[in-house]
Amino acid sequence: MRIVFIGPPGAGKGTQAERLIETYAMAHLSTGDMLRAARDAKTEVGLKADKYMSAGELVPDEIIVAIIAERLTQPDCDGGYLLDGFPRTIAQAEALDAMLAEKGTPLDVVLELKVPEEELFERLAGRGRADDTPDVIRQRLVAYRKQTEPLLDYYSGQKLLRSIDGLGSIDEIFQRAKAVLDEFAG
Ligand code: ADP
Repeated sequence: MRIVFIGPPGAGKGTQAERLIETYAMAHLSTGDMLRAARDAKTEVGLKADKYMSAGELVPDEIIVAIIAERLTQPDCDGGYLLDGFPRTIAQAEALDAMLAEKGTPLDVVLELKVPEEELFERLAGRGRADDTPDVIRQRLVAYRKQTEPLLDYYSGQKLLRSIDGLGSIDEIFQRAKAVLDEFAG
């Protein structure tokens, strides 16, 4: 299965992603994790990305698209993957479509985790990650609304979008996600 997992910051994507990749034995491709690892290792890409991440802004498309293009060539992706945090802009989605068309491996489904914005701020402010100051949180929510939300129409137009309610217990939300993904699991 090839899945895009989409949802605003603070929606609980990371928690659900961990359970989903275990359940369906998929590779977990989290661009947030990749960028944080690059930043901690102080690579050139990591240091460049850090400037954007610590401001709550999106890292430029060409950087992130290059990271994903490289990652998709690794053999563990052959068995399927969950893209978590990518794509986040229409340009990234178009680049992904082009890459996958070339490989002949289209996406199966785009799963949206829906959480109202007022709930997100509370959750993010309570999380205490280094990039979770109020200003940065607000900026990340703005970036989601302006740059990432348009992807919902994009994928809905491709008949790939499925949305689930992100309010409830971790287990309830997992069951909702599983109900959708079971339709595609071969
Ligand atoms: P969140 O907790 O907001 O879901 P992530 O852990 O996915 O965030 O990503 C953290 C930061 O890394 C983002 O705020 C952004 O700066 C950067 N980032 C991650 N993925 C992307 C992407 N696909 N395009 C641009 N920037 C990205």
